[in-house]
Amino acid sequence: MVQKPELNAAIVGAGMSGICMAAKLQDAGIDTFTIFESADEVGGTWRDNTYPGLTCDVPSRFYSYSFRPNSEWSRLMSPGPEIQSYFSQVATERGIRPHIRFGTEVTSARYRDGQWWVGTSDGEEAFDVLIAATGVLRIPRYPDIQGLETFAGPSFHSSRWDHSLSLPDKRIGLIGTGSTGVQITAELGGNIKGLKIFQRTPQWVFPTPNLRYSRVSKAALARWPVLNKVSYRFWQTYIEHASLGRAAVEPCWQRRMMSALCRWNLRLSVRDPELRRKLTPDYHAMCKRQVLAGHYYQAVQKPGVHLVSEAIDHVEPAGVVTADGTLHELDVLVLATGFDARAYVRPMEIIGENGVSLNEAWADGPHAYRSVAVPGFPNLFMLMGPHSPIGNQSLVIIAENQADYAMWWVNKIRDGHIVSAAPTELATNDYNASMKAAMPQTIWVTGCKSWYLGKDGLPELFPWIPRRHRELLSTPQPDDFDVRTA
Ligand code: NAP
Repeated sequence: MVQKPELNAAIVGAGMSGICMAAKLQDAGIDTFTIFESADEVGGTWRDNTYPGLTCDVPSRFYSYSFRPNSEWSRLMSPGPEIQSYFSQVATERGIRPHIRFGTEVTSARYRDGQWWVGTSDGEEAFDVLIAATGVLRIPRYPDIQGLETFAGPSFHSSRWDHSLSLPDKRIGLIGTGSTGVQITAELGGNIKGLKIFQRTPQWVFPTPNLRYSRVSKAALARWPVLNKVSYRFWQTYIEHASLGRAAVEPCWQRRMMSALCRWNLRLSVRDPELRRKLTPDYHAMCKRQVLAGHYYQAVQKPGVHLVSEAIDHVEPAGVVTADGTLHELDVLVLATGFDARAYVRPMEIIGENGVSLNEAWADGPHAYRSVAVPGFPNLFMLMGPHSPIGNQSLVIIAENQADYAMWWVNKIRDGHIVSAAPTELATNDYNASMKAAMPQTIWVTGCKSWYLGKDGLPELFPWIPRRHRELLSTPQPDDFDVRTA
């Protein structure tokens, strides 16, 4: 057995999961890793999204690394800039920044002669292990609306917010009522000259007041770190068992309760029957990615805010024209129209053994072994890969579990026990077949359109409770892998 002290790893992406992976490598005493980051700062989605009203809709105590509690969160669900500064701070204090090559986009990665050759504009470099930490919702999805490019005023995607604009004197058109559109509405509604919300499909909104932490509670959390742990576990239990974690994947009282609370929220918040009718979805709560918000319905009813449920026909220089022929004159058009949820590690070109590309391997849709590894792609580990339990969960704990799983194999390679590992086709197919069989229990297949659904109409999500994902990742099955030794 030969120790391989020089094991080097490439991590693609310096967002939440890339920083997490780097911290895990450091904890294992591995300092020979490089993080490739195309932007000039860490943070991923929290760096890119800066729209007004951006907050996390998962309680911050649980949306933190378990190894780095933060007593300073200002609210139950903290604003985006605070979350961005948390990840930035972790990268700095853990000494991760010197490992990051900012402004360096990875365009390809090829597995050749037992190593991953990572291609950037600087050329190719070899690594023993490749970690794809490229996030899930990264590539903006622009709507296919006739005449969109002819709009005379500023128009941009929600994740590319133009902060040079002064908003109060503007008439803003907002296309999209997903989690993003709802947060923008809650922030801008009533605070600008006019807000027209173009709604294609109504959303169920789960009432979630965003309480502020007092100075006393922050001081107590800083003084007694055990309180952070207790609070982390409390929110974990609430999310994973008492609410969405279970409700989404099996018929249970939590599902009925969530559904009832969404209905009551709408009924009690919107008195005007016509507006309520427009805002009432014709599908089950949680079928689409569940929206959690405190002030959405209130904002929709503020002066100057109009909900347009008529379909968009086209866009003209002056504004949006709906199917009934009405021209909605606008100064600014915001596209809160979501992201390409099928991209995963792409557009990076990944070529595994035998010259097979990930695009080819995923011709029928992205799939993986336990969400982290792909047959034919040895020593490639993905964080937030296909079928990760990402619907209304804290993605931070998922990244930690996946990074721990990758570390199990990384340690074996570093210690010289093995040279490479990739899951077998058989194990991967069995795993995906068992997920497929479990899908009918989930709420995501009950008759709505959502970004969860793949090419085959089935959700690309983990169909069991989050604890099961954790258990699967904490008990690696070496027999499910093609393992090579020196
Ligand atoms: P989204 O959930 O995909 O919603 C996109 C919205 O745009 C939908 O309302 C969609 O209508 C509408 N739309 C798309 N194309 C359209 C068209 N051609 N004409 C009219 N409407 C159109 O996107 P998102 O709101 O950006 O959220 C994406 C995900 O990001 C969320 O699901 C969540 O996972 C994450 N997110 C998280 C937070 C957080 O706090 N943690 C906050 C924001 C976002 P249809 O419903 O009819 O398709």
